[in-house]
Amino acid sequence: MSDYSAEERRALRNVTDPATESPNLHRTTGLGQQQPAGASEEWLPEDVDDVDVDAMDDDDRELSEEIIEAIERPKQAPSFSKGYLPVCDLPGFGDAYPDCGDDMVHFCEDCGHTSAFGRTCRRSECPRCAPAWARNTAKTITGKLIALRSMLDARRETHQRFHHLMFSPSADWTLENSDPLKRTVKVIKQILSAYGVEGVWFYHPYRGDDSERELDDRGFWKQILGKGLDWDDVKDRLEYAPHFHVIVVGHHIEGSDVTKRVYEETDWILHRIHRDNSSISIPDDYALARAVSYCLSHTGVRMGYHDNGRNSNEYQYIGDTLREAQILDKYDPYVTKLVRRASVDTLGLSYNDFDCRVEREVGPRVIDMDSLPGFASKGDDDRDLDAAASTSTADQEVGVDDVLEGSDQDDTAFELRECTGTMSRISTAHRVLDDPEWDGEFADDLRDAYEEWLLDDPGREDRRGG
Ligand SMILES: [Zn+2]
Ligand SMILES: [Zn+2]
Ligand SMILES: [Zn+2]
Repeated sequence: MSDYSAEERRALRNVTDPATESPNLHRTTGLGQQQPAGASEEWLPEDVDDVDVDAMDDDDRELSEEIIEAIERPKQAPSFSKGYLPVCDLPGFGDAYPDCGDDMVHFCEDCGHTSAFGRTCRRSECPRCAPAWARNTAKTITGKLIALRSMLDARRETHQRFHHLMFSPSADWTLENSDPLKRTVKVIKQILSAYGVEGVWFYHPYRGDDSERELDDRGFWKQILGKGLDWDDVKDRLEYAPHFHVIVVGHHIEGSDVTKRVYEETDWILHRIHRDNSSISIPDDYALARAVSYCLSHTGVRMGYHDNGRNSNEYQYIGDTLREAQILDKYDPYVTKLVRRASVDTLGLSYNDFDCRVEREVGPRVIDMDSLPGFASKGDDDRDLDAAASTSTADQEVGVDDVLEGSDQDDTAFELRECTGTMSRISTAHRVLDDPEWDGEFADDLRDAYEEWLLDDPGREDRRGG
């Protein structure tokens, strides 16, 4: 697939070429039109009264000017025929590697249980592996953001929170640049720096076609992703509507005057996503995992973008602290559970194929809640999970306590005490076998299986890890 040019790909994809139509056709939600309930993505200021610039306070005026300058800096292309943001592929709608699905022995990184099943290529474009890719990646991103918040909380005077932002460039946003996406990302970096926040951006090339507007965004993507559909099944339901989601950590995001003025002068929409009944954007770690999983699930993929032929999954970290932020090992099971649950809940994606299913004599994981970064600042004696869950918005069906205790729909998994560890290829088993700290209960079986695998092909001993 990566042999096709961008034009051929668009033709193949049969997605409306933005160059052939008036760009305004793509911004179909006009001013004054009602938004369907729950459609959080598309946003326009409710009343775009002229913002009285003189009445703005100095900070707001400076901030809006800095943002407007960042947006106006790149050179606009003279016509809409080129320089628009890329029409990308989506995770799970490309090709698997040829050996994806071939039987191979896997082992559980937690308990050492071995089992043979189809190997995974773990690529975002693979229809079979995309959900596992999304989960692993969402776990890393969520973990880093939780760590970032702790780090900034410690370093800054103000209380740091998660915010979910949506940036939508003007409908005629076209740049005289060989890589308009890269240049636009630079604008986004400058906007985040103006706000004094760090975070992760995701590029969404599509949204649901207008006929799908009765569904909210999550509902829409739930129907599209991970259901084994072909591109031909979904292309007509998508509309090219490039926008960015940015999940950031910061104290406060300055609101309406700034965003209204930016919209008036640039047609860029900067929107902070929050629930109708609350001004809080992302109340807790579970909501964070949920937002990250959602954004990643239909982030753009540029096939064969890199010189070595690798795909580019269009998301990236912005900020020096975030780049160095790492989730501590002891929080790893906590983040894993958050993301697992969030992915299943928000998009109906089941990831269990690649989890260890063996039953073990283990209780639920005991997690020291006091030490978790998301809960550390919650004051009194009763600072347990209920306290954390009560900050969640009303429509959030599953609280953090459910995630950790597995107390509702998914409770069978916990009653059966399934291991749920991550299954990895036997070729990498030396990583745990050589680790003196690792004490998986099926270590002996794993060692046998690994030896057997090495013997199968005498060359393997030298190439181990391959
Ligand atoms: Zn296991
Ligand atoms: Zn695959
Ligand atoms: Zn989106």
